[in-house]
Amino acid sequence: MSDTKTAVVTGSSSGIGLGIANGLAAAGMNIVMNGIEAPEAVEEARKGLETQHGIKAVYSRANMMTPEGANELISTAVEAFGRVDVLVNNAGIQFVSPVEDFPDDKWQAIINLNLSAAFYTTKAVIAGMKERGWGRIINIASAHGLVASPYKSAYVAAKHGIIGLTKTVALESAEHGVTVNAICPGYVWTPLVEKQIPDTAKARGLTEEQVKRDVLLAAQPTKKFATVEEMAGLAVFLCSDSANSITGTALPVDGGWVAQ
Ligand code: NAD
Repeated sequence: MSDTKTAVVTGSSSGIGLGIANGLAAAGMNIVMNGIEAPEAVEEARKGLETQHGIKAVYSRANMMTPEGANELISTAVEAFGRVDVLVNNAGIQFVSPVEDFPDDKWQAIINLNLSAAFYTTKAVIAGMKERGWGRIINIASAHGLVASPYKSAYVAAKHGIIGLTKTVALESAEHGVTVNAICPGYVWTPLVEKQIPDTAKARGLTEEQVKRDVLLAAQPTKKFATVEEMAGLAVFLCSDSANSITGTALPVDGGWVAQ
């Protein structure tokens, strides 16, 4: 069996997922990318991982909204590299609206992608990890997995849910060399954050500049956006032997947000 580890990162064609894919590739892992950005842009990022880090990267456009898509992604990884050693459940979307107006289809889409996808991918990889006696599952939750903000009912529910899933699977796999942790980012400047600014402005009756300063960064004592590189650094650390005893945790990387 090759020593090179295989990491699957859902939603790694953009933002935090791409940053984590880059970090794990720099640590010498083969990467299975996933996401729904324009194919040319993804191909450029995929090639970049290979040429920059001397690893192999494959891409699957599997739709993480469905159980079939989640299973397809894991099958692609196993076909390409034989096994999955590291699973990063990162794909996610946001929608901002008062609960009474929250569209049913947006609720369901957020629960499917931000929560259920992690259940299906975990279900597909966990037996192999336990059998081999080594595995890492890293769920990208959010500060919103630990505390709430108004107008984000589906997102906050899904992110609290994924922390529950993290703890449960950590307990089930603790004796088998498999760790399961959640990273809880505060605000990181990515397309996901950028896209919610107009809706938040509308929901709160503010300008977009006011949203950035008085809503987003108001929550973050550092008054700075966190970076994708910081998320990648923690993911790489969680994959190291130094993190063998860290399991079932929800680790905030949020500039002090949830300390308040
Ligand atoms: P992003 O919009 O930059 O990236 C989201 C990724 O998910 C993209 O690669 C996109 O293609 C993929 N995706 C969307 N729908 C998909 C689908 N149906 N199937 C497969 N992939 C799909 O967002 P981001 O900010 O990098 O967010 C990544 C994760 O980090 C999300 O789970 C998000 O909730 C979480 N997070 C982000 C922040 C932040 O401030 N940016 C804060 C806390 C948590």
